[in-house]
Amino acid sequence: MDLMRLEVDWDVCVGHGQCYLRAPQLFEPNPDDDWGKPDVLVPDVDPADEAQVAAARKSLQLCPEFAITLDGVSGR
Ligand code: SF4
Repeated sequence: MDLMRLEVDWDVCVGHGQCYLRAPQLFEPNPDDDWGKPDVLVPDVDPADEAQVAAARKSLQLCPEFAITLDGVSGR
């Protein structure tokens, strides 16, 4: 089964940090970015890992800017 791609579009992200505050297992603040934009800790989500898929799907809803996507789908 193909891995699912979890990504953050930095052009859309404004860096208020809801993602890494509420899903620190998936995101962390990029240490070099002054705006608080995140790195994705698990960019390739295993579809067989139901807990990880659920957390990734939930993370789409955490982002008020809809900057997070899973396989190209945002929380919009
Ligand atoms: S919640 Fe969305 S806009 Fe805010 S830092 Fe995370 S990805 Fe960026």
